Amino acid sequence: MPIATVNPANGETLKTYEPMDEDELERRLELAEATFRTYRTTSFAERARLLDKAAGLLDEDQREIGRVVTTEMGKPVRQARAEAAKCAKAMRWYAEHAERLLADEEPAEADVRDSGASRVRVRYRPLGPVLAVMPWNFPLWQVVRFAAPALMAGNVGLLKHASNVPQTALYLEDLFHRAGFPEGCFQTLLIGSGAVDDILRDERVRAATLTGSEPAGRAVASTAGEMIKKTVLELGGSDPYIVMPSADLDRAAEVAVTARVQNNGQSCIAAKRFIVHTDVYDAFAERFVAGMRALKVGDPLAEDTEVGPLASERGRADLEELVDDARRGGAEVLCGGERPDGPGWYYPPTVLSGIRREMRIHREEAFGPVATLYRAHDVDEAVLVANDSAFGLSSNVWTRDETEVERFARDLEAGSVYVNGMTASHPAFPFGGVKRSGYGRELSGHGIREFCNITTVWQG
Ligand code: NAP
Repeated sequence: MPIATVNPANGETLKTYEPMDEDELERRLELAEATFRTYRTTSFAERARLLDKAAGLLDEDQREIGRVVTTEMGKPVRQARAEAAKCAKAMRWYAEHAERLLADEEPAEADVRDSGASRVRVRYRPLGPVLAVMPWNFPLWQVVRFAAPALMAGNVGLLKHASNVPQTALYLEDLFHRAGFPEGCFQTLLIGSGAVDDILRDERVRAATLTGSEPAGRAVASTAGEMIKKTVLELGGSDPYIVMPSADLDRAAEVAVTARVQNNGQSCIAAKRFIVHTDVYDAFAERFVAGMRALKVGDPLAEDTEVGPLASERGRADLEELVDDARRGGAEVLCGGERPDGPGWYYPPTVLSGIRREMRIHREEAFGPVATLYRAHDVDEAVLVANDSAFGLSSNVWTRDETEVERFARDLEAGSVYVNGMTASHPAFPFGGVKRSGYGRELSGHGIREFCNITTVWQG
């Protein structure tokens, strides 16, 4: 895949980049290691000052970088600006809270005495240069949710961004430099995915985080495993969205539309499988399909566009194949399902019903604005269908019945359970999945500690 900006709204190649050569990569790895040696000793106050500065610059750049993001990957420009704002918020959150989250911990007095020590502390020390392999779908946010905690912990970052968002990748490097971070604290490596393996094997790289597809996760995790390096993996999802009879149906259907089509449907935590209790199935389906039909699809740079094109031609073809496979297997297309004529990689908001287990769309992630509807007769069946997936990222439940809430919170195989609302990450809450959605956590105290050397300091 060439490293290039190709506008998804019309397929036009706007800018291409040569991958960095071996000498340049060597220079950057050397710089990362050298910078880490001193940066690791800086104070939380100094790091927070720089990160706050970066947040301020990002706020100032919001309009400009929003347009770049939209031009590179096609999300509606208002969502691109909102993404930039969310990044600034996460930077400020970590600037404010990192010192507390990484404060030394003291084990219980009795245990300290039992070990024969006069004092024991658990200290969170940084690991070193961390490689971040990131996807294009939230090209600012995916990077910042790694970079903000990593930099506050005293690590330095090496970004291998997706090949279709090079301008956003270079912008991020520039942003951290302008904020005053030493040059080697955050560097973008313009490389294709084939060059990741060598970088990961380099002894100066201490750990890696990857957000992306399962094959990419598997490749990075197996090399990291071979090299005994810590990884965090944030992979795909096929989140369930369960609607029970006590739900506020109007609200559940309205939020369902946003939950499915946010980011043109290309979000790992988008609700993808809508599992509706049979008592309210028809009423929900009617509202949901009406909402999906009413969406404004079009030029992502227009302020009122709600759904833009998919990010790549390949992405649209993959989605089409899933829909066609379901159609051949007997699924009913309640709306959408046909690509429009004309330039750009558009695909309409689509709802399918009559889904069966053997259909690919039941097992695979639909990365675009395509929803599948399932009917459930009770809580047990809803849980069964929800968990009948290789993925386990997040989950959504609509009910006013507290017993049902507890049941879903106990039984859904996912990294989070959102009740009466759609999944949305927040800097203060852990984010991540189980099963083939990956492992490890980002955000919150759990996220910042992933790339720390948790050190026991024992004094006799
Ligand atoms: P992708 O193809 O896996 O790409 C993600 C990143 O991995 C890119 O930088 C890509 O580089 C790189 N990559 C691909 N194959 C690789 C390999 N064999 N070795 C090393 N690096 C490799 O994923 P995508 O299609 O861009 O993104 C969509 C996927 O990401 C979906 O499955 C989505 O659910 C998932 N996602 C998960 C989360 C989460 O938090 N769990 C968030 C967002 C997205 P190139 O671009 O150069 O190929």
